[in-house]
Parts: sequence; C-alpha cells; structure tokens
Amino acid sequence: MSEILELKNVSKQYGNTKVLDNINFKINNNEFFTILGSSGSGKSTIIRMIGGFTKPSTGEIIYENKMINDEPIFKRPFNTVFQDYALFPNMNVFDNVGFGLKIKNINKDEIKKKVLDVLAVVGLENFSNRMPQELSGGQQQRVALARAIICEPKIILLDEPLGALDAELRKQMQLFLKEIQKKIQITFIFITHDQEEAIFLSDRIAVLNNHKFEQVGSPKDLYYSPQTTYMAKFFGECNLINCQVVNQDTNSIKVKSEFGDFVIPKNNNVSHELEFVYGIRPEEVKLVNKNENSMQVKIKDISFKGSTSTINVANEKGDAFLKIQNISSNISQSLSKGASINIEFNTKLGSIFTE
Ligand code: ADP
Repeated sequence: MSEILELKNVSKQYGNTKVLDNINFKINNNEFFTILGSSGSGKSTIIRMIGGFTKPSTGEIIYENKMINDEPIFKRPFNTVFQDYALFPNMNVFDNVGFGLKIKNINKDEIKKKVLDVLAVVGLENFSNRMPQELSGGQQQRVALARAIICEPKIILLDEPLGALDAELRKQMQLFLKEIQKKIQITFIFITHDQEEAIFLSDRIAVLNNHKFEQVGSPKDLYYSPQTTYMAKFFGECNLINCQVVNQDTNSIKVKSEFGDFVIPKNNNVSHELEFVYGIRPEEVKLVNKNENSMQVKIKDISFKGSTSTINVANEKGDAFLKIQNISSNISQSLSKGASINIEFNTKLGSIFTE
C-alpha cells in the first residue's frame, strides 16, 4: 500500500498552551483513517494543520514525499467537510455542489455532467433544485460530501461530520460514509470522539490522549493488542493484574499473581523477576475444573444479562478483583455468591504491560 501523507514530529502550541506534542503518523492511499479523542484533545487542530488552516509550531507535514507546511490551502489537493456542513444558503444543491468547479472556470456542460454524476454517487440525483434549508441534516451532509468529492481531492478531511446528527441518522450516515469511501477510493481522514463510530468506520485509528498518540492501529490491533493500560481500558473492559515472573523455559513463563500462579506463552520482553501488569479481557477468563493451571477465586456477585451472565470475583485474601463475562446463564444459575470457583485465563489473548 503506498503512503500518501505523513506527519513527522509535529507539535502545536497556542501561546503557552501545548495542544499536540510530537505527533507522528503515516497514512496510506485509500485508507479510512480516524483520529479518536475526547473533546479538546486536539483532533481538529490536526485536521486544520493538514488542510493548511493553521501551521504546526514544529515538525513537518509531508504529502507524497514533499514537505507542504508552507503550501497555501487552495494548493493542497485536499477538501474538508465540516460539522456544520457550511453550505451556501442562497444556492440550490446543484450550485452548491458545482461551486468548486465554477470558480475554476470549468465549462458549463462539464460542470453539469460532473455535478449530476456526484449527486448520483451520494444518492441525491433528484434533489438538484432543492435549497439547503429544504433538506434534512443527513441530506445536507451528503451535499457537503458531494461538494468535497467533485473536486477530486486526494484526501478528504472530515471534521466530526456526524456530530450534529441524531443517533438514528448518524448510524445511517456511518454506513453511507463507509460504503462511499470504498467506492470513490479517496483517502479519508476522519475525526470523532465516538469509539464505536471509529471502530465501525476505520481501517486504522489513532487514539489521541494527553497531547500524544497513545496507539495507532487497526480496530482489531487496538482491541486485541493494546500497548498501554490506558488502551486496554479504552476499548471495552480489561482486568489488570499485578504479576511477577517466577521462572521461564523455552516455551513458557510461570508468573505469580495476586490470584495465584499461572503460565503464559514465552515473551521476549519478559525477563526473570520482572514485575508487570497483565491484562485479560473479562470474556477471556474461563470457568474450569480445578487443575494445575487454575486459580481459585470467590464469587462476589453475579449479574444476569439474559443468555449470559457477568460474575465479579475476588482473590482468596479479598483484596483483588476480576470481572468474568459471557458466562452462559445456564452455568451461572448453579453458582452462588460466596462460592469458590476455579478460573483460567486464555493466555493467547492476554497482554503484558511493563510501563
Ligand atoms: P478537538 O477537535 O479534539 O475538540 P481542538 O483541536 O479543537 O480539539 O482544540 C484543542 C485545544 O486547543 C483546545 O483546548 C482548544 O481550546 C485549543 N485551541 C484550538 N484552537 C485554538 C486557537 N485558535 N487559539 C487558542 N487555542 C485554541
């Protein structure tokens, strides 16, 4: 996959306020890349720097191997779709979509053909004559996207474009955006604070936290291979257990934990007597019959959730706790608060955090 854009050691300050601290990432051609972070974390600032609306304090923005920090907005082959759509209220849909071509002095017949083509792509072929105020929020959003697509940019920057839509419409537009991006094959850089939205839409996600990227990867990478305890708890839930290495052989490592000893597959980052935090998702803790690898815990409570149940357990001393999820309710029915049970971790899917 070829690389289209890179941010290299990019930092941004407004006055004395640090917003972004040494951001690095590369985006591939035709990728749906999402920047995910809470409000105020600096997502729009990244999009604005890429679009040319503001400059990095330090670092480089590189497009197709060329540094573009000083390139003016109109020379960058990018288009931005804003949250508030920014449609021209006094122009109908056709003129809104064709505006970008008109100012480039493209002839009328060509504009007409292109506008009708693009309106068909976004499913608004019958809305040419409508004024923006005669459209629903979702339709206005499609017009804004059509207006970006028609100029054939190499990258479309989407600044939280679904933020103003109600939940139902937002779901429909998510599906639409995902389909359309694959169809038109333009790189999308999308920002959102919504985790589910990011997971659903993205080829890769960059999670912004505390002015930096915490991790960049596919939704599955971020879920199954979190690199920090922050990331382990960011998507879904994760039990974090204090551990120490006892000994290791060629294939496995024996560790001591607050719940008892267990064995994990060999890992090159783990040395003798190392103390670390082990992350295991609640659905990867299994109820088992007592065996040499199992740990005994006490049930604190059981919540019935229909076909499955969630169980909270404590270690023998009662000072460390774990959540176990997706236990068949058939099985949990036979269990009661205070009872001792044996558990095992699916260590193929556990994470080791040494930070
Ligand atoms: P997000 O898109 O994640 O909500 P922004 O990138 O809009 O975050 O803003 C990040 C931080 O930078 C916020 O604290 C915001 O107040 C500040 N900020 C954004 N633009 C400016 C500006 N032009 N001048 C000063 N501070 C700004």
